[in-house]
Amino acid sequence: MSRLRSLDLPRSLVVRRVVALDNRVEIEVGLRKRSAVCPDCQCPTQRIHSFYQRKLADLPWQGRPATLIVSVPRFFCQTMLCPRRTFVMPLEGITVRHGRQTTRLADLHYYIAHTLGGSAGARMTVRLCCPISADTLVRRLLSRVQNTTKGTALIELTDTAPLIWREVDVPTSLTLRTLHEVIQVTMGWLDYHLWEFTLGDQRYGLPDNEDWGGLPRRNAAKTRLRDLLTTSRLEMVYEYDFGDGWRHRFLINNVRQGKAGEGYPKYIAGQYACPPEDCGGIPGFYHMLESWADPDHPDHDEVSAYLEDWNPNEINELPLRNALNRIANKRNAVRTRLNKTMKSSS
Ligand SMILES: [Zn+2]
Repeated sequence: MSRLRSLDLPRSLVVRRVVALDNRVEIEVGLRKRSAVCPDCQCPTQRIHSFYQRKLADLPWQGRPATLIVSVPRFFCQTMLCPRRTFVMPLEGITVRHGRQTTRLADLHYYIAHTLGGSAGARMTVRLCCPISADTLVRRLLSRVQNTTKGTALIELTDTAPLIWREVDVPTSLTLRTLHEVIQVTMGWLDYHLWEFTLGDQRYGLPDNEDWGGLPRRNAAKTRLRDLLTTSRLEMVYEYDFGDGWRHRFLINNVRQGKAGEGYPKYIAGQYACPPEDCGGIPGFYHMLESWADPDHPDHDEVSAYLEDWNPNEINELPLRNALNRIANKRNAVRTRLNKTMKSSS
């Protein structure tokens, strides 16, 4: 067993047996976790009803296609009033619902299709021992690029009164790197300073930023919103400018299927202009507003000159929508290019 442990599999799996057949490898695995949470009542349970086997194509192993045979437990929900009697443990991080391959194999096929297209990609998958047809490769690619699952994001600037907020629809396929851009343009920041997202103890940002201790910061360009969405609701903190310390509550909910071809992200609503850059964080901002409103304040003239035509009650929507369109078009460009490639190759 000690040798089997060195197999590089998702952490949540335990290897039971490896069967090397002539032309493929079967890896029998179980789940490390022995409890689950009922999807209806959210109550944990450890009472197993039965097991069923799920076959998932996985990354090739020793030059042979590999299949994971996962023994998946079905649980009893033990809550008296819950309408659900039993449920199956979801294979989070291993595959998607009704998936027939592991997420990591799907990722590999996606990158091959993205780089080489259908026909050359299919030949490459044969060489790599995870063969898949050109048509399937292209279909998988398109379904991922056209993924229009979206959620409604609420962005609130912490400690402001009246609250400075924005609401925007975002696709869950956005990376946190792009989400940072979306927040910058919808709030009206100028993207001059460092930033990061925090979810629990985990921080996400640019990998080459300075490290301030704690858990290492994960690469925001490699983390997608959907990777973090375990339910249809997600709350994170977005901090911009570690000097002024602008903290934002970022809340996404109402995750749903968007219409294909719609160019999200999309601005919905908001209130109040965001503070000018470098005004000294929340205390500096309110001090500035005070002296601006009071002609007798010793700082009044200086502040008025600094703010010029800044209007705290106004969101400048035109440049905001334009900037969001640019982000949406960048995403659409990939799709358009793919559609063209497909047409020219068929
Ligand atoms: Zn239940």
